Amino acid sequence: MNLLTEKLAVHGGPAVRSKTLPYGHQTIGAPDVEAVVEVLRSSWLTTGPAVDQFERDFATTIGAEHAIAVSSGTAALHTACHALRIGKGDEVIVPAITFIASSNSVIYVGGVPVFADVEADTLTISPSDVEAKITDRTKAIVAVDFAGLPCNYAALRAIADARGIPILSDACHSLGATVGGAPAATLADISVFSFHPVKHITTGEGGMICTNQSEWATRARRFRNHGIATDHRQRSMTRTFHYEMVELGYNYRITDLQCALGSSQLRQLPTFLEKRRRIAAYYDEQIQNRADVQPLARRRGAANAYHLYVVKFQLERLRADRNDLFAALNAEGIGVNVHYQPVYQHPYYRQHFGDQSGCCPEAERAYERILSLPIFPEMSMGDAEDVIAALRKVLDYYGGV
Ligand SMILES: *Cc1c(COP(=O)(O)O)cnc(C)c1O
Repeated sequence: MNLLTEKLAVHGGPAVRSKTLPYGHQTIGAPDVEAVVEVLRSSWLTTGPAVDQFERDFATTIGAEHAIAVSSGTAALHTACHALRIGKGDEVIVPAITFIASSNSVIYVGGVPVFADVEADTLTISPSDVEAKITDRTKAIVAVDFAGLPCNYAALRAIADARGIPILSDACHSLGATVGGAPAATLADISVFSFHPVKHITTGEGGMICTNQSEWATRARRFRNHGIATDHRQRSMTRTFHYEMVELGYNYRITDLQCALGSSQLRQLPTFLEKRRRIAAYYDEQIQNRADVQPLARRRGAANAYHLYVVKFQLERLRADRNDLFAALNAEGIGVNVHYQPVYQHPYYRQHFGDQSGCCPEAERAYERILSLPIFPEMSMGDAEDVIAALRKVLDYYGGV
């Protein structure tokens, strides 16, 4: 221990912040509230015009021909797996470091998730490991734009095209991310988004599927409505009662209240992104010269949407492990988090898919040394300064190795 360091809050010293700064938080303004109230006073609370409007607004933002709104990002992933006709015994390649829903969705349709390792510097899926894990049973590749950085789509595209398999982009972290100026989602065959409150825009709960393939879009629309070919408003407009359920679907519909909020939030996306990027640039600048902690790498030509700001610790230089750092920063009032434990380490996966320890060494190594720092549009620069002050305080205490 360095004798010149301050006493950490975790050891009973004074905390940098008295009120904890969360790692993510929604931004809701008066126009958002008004948009929702307007729908509450209208005739359509669900399957109404606000749903169509949000889908059109979103399709324009993403540059996709079709956008289908559903009740969550997880529902969007499940729906996309169904649209792609992934079924019993089909293998789908998923990165080891992602939110469990990316992989659970493959299981929902009877498929088998096969885990690919991540690149050590970006924590996005490793194209060379995707190549190594492809078999004749591989039906799709799930690309997760981890933390907001687009995957290496050029390399993934070459692998996918050579085998005629689609790329499903789990873009839940990367709304607003671009590659060569174009929305990152346009580089995949089908992409999915989440509108959970910590994401770039929120509808409370909500999700979206985007694609240019009409057949997949039709399958997605049916799947979110019990597998029925028409929706309530279409029947009401054509004055018919008869409907046909042509396949087994779910009720994955999203309400007009949520979609009105979604359209209102989407208009603010450029501002939200700018604020996230400003905080990320400040963190980059503050930690770039430290030997004990580093930001994730950038990718040339890609603009990160910064859903998360993930740092990696050089544990060799510290007398602490990631759990100690997590506890110490939380005690200082900094709501750091961990994104994510390799999916196959969860008890359910061990039980149903066996012990896969060692299958993705970079993911396992990264998990032991990462933390996500707070980043969200309403954070002030003062808040960001507190994060850096706490990080310095904690690293100085455990440092000097
Ligand atoms: C948030 C998230 C999801 C799931 O979205 P929900 O809307 O919470 O269901 C899926 N994948 C990733 C990578 C996410 O971050």
